[in-house]
Amino acid sequence: MPTEIGHYIDGSRAGGRSDRTSPVFNPASGEQTGVVALASTSEVDRAVASAVAAFPKWSRTPALRRARILNKFLGICEERIDELAALITAEHGKVHSDAKGEVQRGLEVVEFAVGIPQLLKGEFSENVGTQVDSHALRQPLGVVAGITPFNFPVMVPMWMFPVALACGNCFILKPSERDPSPSILMAEWLKEAGLPDGVFSVVQGDKEAVDALLHHSDIAGVSFVGSTPIAKYIYSTATANGKRAQALGGAKNHMIVMPDADMDQAVDALMGAAFGSAGERCMAISVAVPVGEKTADALIGKLVPKINALKVGPGTDPESEMGPLVTRQHYEKVRGYIDQGVAEGAELLVDGRDLKLQGYEDGYFLGGTLFDHVTPDMRIYKEEIFGPVLGITRAPDYATAAKLINEHEFGNGTAIFTRDGDAAREFAHEIQVGMVGINVPIPVPMAFHSFGGWKASLFGDHHMHGPEGVRFYTRLKTITTRWPTGIRAGAEFVMPTMK
Ligand code: NAD
Repeated sequence: MPTEIGHYIDGSRAGGRSDRTSPVFNPASGEQTGVVALASTSEVDRAVASAVAAFPKWSRTPALRRARILNKFLGICEERIDELAALITAEHGKVHSDAKGEVQRGLEVVEFAVGIPQLLKGEFSENVGTQVDSHALRQPLGVVAGITPFNFPVMVPMWMFPVALACGNCFILKPSERDPSPSILMAEWLKEAGLPDGVFSVVQGDKEAVDALLHHSDIAGVSFVGSTPIAKYIYSTATANGKRAQALGGAKNHMIVMPDADMDQAVDALMGAAFGSAGERCMAISVAVPVGEKTADALIGKLVPKINALKVGPGTDPESEMGPLVTRQHYEKVRGYIDQGVAEGAELLVDGRDLKLQGYEDGYFLGGTLFDHVTPDMRIYKEEIFGPVLGITRAPDYATAAKLINEHEFGNGTAIFTRDGDAAREFAHEIQVGMVGINVPIPVPMAFHSFGGWKASLFGDHHMHGPEGVRFYTRLKTITTRWPTGIRAGAEFVMPTMK
């Protein structure tokens, strides 16, 4: 019997009340393991009402006390990291060690948020006028929502809620319906850590739940991570409804390999960046751009045997380097892109469609795939595939390689591999991408910096977590103070100026 996965509202689990549900699968076996409730507008309303009720007390709770609850949550997660990681592997499919890495990267944001008393310190100016002082402080927005994708069911919510809660907001999470279970475990652990009821809720669902959040007058801010068309929709709808919004979209990350690069280092970097988590990472490298024919040939010579030797298997097997894709539908989509690449005339050097795994015939496994001679007019170059498919686009020189990146629709992450500091510096300066790696293939910023792309990879003004996260989840108030001192000047009708 599939497990029923419901919501978490007002401090407890809540079964779905709408009659709409969605199946949840184990991607390694293809078996249906769960059925997730899809919230109706009235269920979203209930979660928002409980958050509204919790907000006054939570926002007035001293920041240090809020931080202590998050610190306790951090300890619980660290102690039970295997349990959370196993749940990710069961519904997403990624290998267990990678799932643990995901939780670890999320917990770093919790660690950052524990420093909130320091981060919320305001500014004070004495004597902005005679015996007049001014101070500026940041206050929480109110009730905020996070809508998250399937590929990081723990880390991406943790980009958002630790900072939002630390700042004094109440948070409603709408996770992906494809891997919904980790969100409920996190909600329970937050409660165990001492979080008051209503401060963090989970509503499972699809477009109906998202639309209810986007149109709810009590939702003050919306954070989104997912594909670009939905990111655009979320940003435009949320802002049209007067909400603060940040919406992170899709990606097509290029890695330039210069002729002077350490080729072994570049190849190892590409293997992990292209095929880790089956390519289902927004920071995955999906286009390698070797500069010069010799570089391209050397790169391919080393890549092909490694891709052929990639250990593909269930995420629960410690020997596996790459697990299955998330759903049959996504598997078919990625497979379709490989067919498309062949039809468009790219040269298929390693074909992941051939993979057969004994005992896992119904799982959504694709092998690592490599295309050479991918050109900018091809769909497999222009569109995000989000699978274990690496394309090689050869460039005659550095300028052509950089131009490719700057002209691409997306601008999430990018990397250059070189020994030339001058080239690296020029690249970092001119490239139109939000996160840049120099001999680092996946330059995901640490929690105390902020994460976000440019162009069609982010809509809004703020990146996530780090200082930008604190800014996003708070608004500025500036207070000007004068105490009675015995001076009585009478009413003034002209614009106040410094006296
Ligand atoms: P998705 O856009 O399909 O779904 C994301 C969220 O939006 C889910 O919660 C989903 O339920 C909801 N949603 C889906 N369709 C909707 C609709 N029509 N109206 C309202 N809500 C809707 O994305 P996904 O497939 O879950 O995740 C993969 C995508 O996320 C990739 O494009 C990837 O690049 C992107 N991503 C980006 C980043 C980043 O930092 N830029 C990080 C992780 C993932």
